[in-house]
Amino acid sequence: MDLLSKIRNVPDFPKPGIQFKDITTLLQDVEAYNHVIAKVADRYRDAGLTKVVGIESRGFIFGAALAHALGIGFIPVRKEGKLPSDRISRSYELEYGQATIELHIDALGKEDRVVIIDDLLATGGTLQAAAELVSHTGATVHEIWVLIELAFIPGREKLKGYTIHAEIVVDGE
Ligand code: AMP
Repeated sequence: MDLLSKIRNVPDFPKPGIQFKDITTLLQDVEAYNHVIAKVADRYRDAGLTKVVGIESRGFIFGAALAHALGIGFIPVRKEGKLPSDRISRSYELEYGQATIELHIDALGKEDRVVIIDDLLATGGTLQAAAELVSHTGATVHEIWVLIELAFIPGREKLKGYTIHAEIVVDGE
């Protein structure tokens, strides 16, 4: 299936010069969404994973469905101020300003082996912060999975030491 054709390009959102990859068009296509989840579940079925980690908010859409398909638990990495119990935080640079993401401190431990899920890899700042949070708990990051990688941005360089799998690689804007 040509998954790239299911994703809508929205020019100049949320600001001029950004080509926003809108995944809502893929999600509303049941064959495309099921195809993605079946593919990612096949990829990790025999990986010995104990949990799926999803990054707020579009990482939840793929991560929760994957956790359900694999029959394992789902761990949310959330934006600052959303998780109610004891948590660890990492801040990272955005194009303008900073963002912070958080993980419940008791969500994972050294016995865990996880895949980290997000919709898109751009600069890699979000996934780097998420991988650091997971690693801080002692858990093993088996792989990082994204639906889309913007390969014209060197996001992978921030993630050296981690294996990354992108379902769709976009080479040019
Ligand atoms: P980054 O930390 O730069 O790798 O950015 C990744 C996060 O920002 C992901 O969670 C994406 O949802 C979002 N994002 C960044 N660039 C885009 C884009 N061009 N289209 C859609 N989402 C994007």
